[in-house]
Amino acid sequence: MKTLQDIVRPNIWSLKPYSSARDEYKGFDAKVFLDANESPYHEPYNRYPDPLQTEVKRLLAPIKGVEEECIFLGNGSDEAIDLVFRIFCEPGVDNVVSIAPTYGMYEVCADVNNVAYRPVPLATDEAGNFRFSADALLAAVDGHTKAIFLCSPNNPTGQCLERDELMKVLTRFEGMVVVDEAYADFMDAPSFARLLADFPRLIVLQTFSKAWASAGIRLGIALASPEVIGLFNKVKYPYNVNVLTQRQALEVLADYGQIVKWVALLKAERTRLIASLTEYPDTSHVFPSDANFVLVRVRDAQALYDYLLTQGIIVRNRHRVQLCANCLRITVGSPEENDALMEAMRAFLR
Ligand code: PMP
Repeated sequence: MKTLQDIVRPNIWSLKPYSSARDEYKGFDAKVFLDANESPYHEPYNRYPDPLQTEVKRLLAPIKGVEEECIFLGNGSDEAIDLVFRIFCEPGVDNVVSIAPTYGMYEVCADVNNVAYRPVPLATDEAGNFRFSADALLAAVDGHTKAIFLCSPNNPTGQCLERDELMKVLTRFEGMVVVDEAYADFMDAPSFARLLADFPRLIVLQTFSKAWASAGIRLGIALASPEVIGLFNKVKYPYNVNVLTQRQALEVLADYGQIVKWVALLKAERTRLIASLTEYPDTSHVFPSDANFVLVRVRDAQALYDYLLTQGIIVRNRHRVQLCANCLRITVGSPEENDALMEAMRAFLR
């Protein structure tokens, strides 16, 4: 069995991290800050933020059901995705494996880091829905595969990957398994974060951007073993999450009940939107959704997309994405927004 050190890039394993001014005085009752060349004026913006976002993690840990030392916070989960490449993948040597179609940033980050990206197409079942197979995925793994990226619920398909198959990947693959649960709040299945204690190579990604209604503050979450989080903290920029974001995150966490209500409302709207899309005469397939969006295949996605644009309604055209010909990805909006969408779609037919 490989150790964590066998998977990490040697330069990262031996890296001595930058020690910031705020790291060095811990445990004292600090009153006068003359250590970081800040201005004494314009509180609280004059001060560097807490490099490890301690307060945010303290409120977040019980909601996520993990210890604080199992949490990394970054500038969106996109920062965590990029860090996986920078920590584990030797440019020009290592590769990562993922599925297709899936979230586009895994491939972009692979390209930026000069790491080979191996997408394994999902299968399609008799009902026309996507199916994920561990065997097909693991066939793409070789001795230089450092990580597998699995998005569940998957973007743009909307569905959770089959849990049994994902478990097979976790038990059989010796590198890092990244389960991107950006849409976790909208699924009925439990989060993979529950399995962190059993799988030290598991990294679960979540975010404030979707159900938590805070895409603008850029706050992503990685949940993993304390050893893996230690590597993230070592490689990240010292002050990667700014003061404004940390303040706003605390407000969101203090009013978590509101998030729960919004999620319930959006799930009800998802059911209503799926029903409307299923009835729509030009629909050929509505994919099941465990997320806050619905993938729908129509007769002519480009024409419908172009028409909706003229009505000021923007959906995501996925027509050119592998296995998604004539598919639109539609975010579940407010009841009024969903009504406006369906009304415009019906007008398109007239
Ligand atoms: N993962 C998935 C699957 C996503 O769809 C997105 C956003 N579209 C992200 C991660 C990035 O989220 P963040 O805003 O936290 O960077």
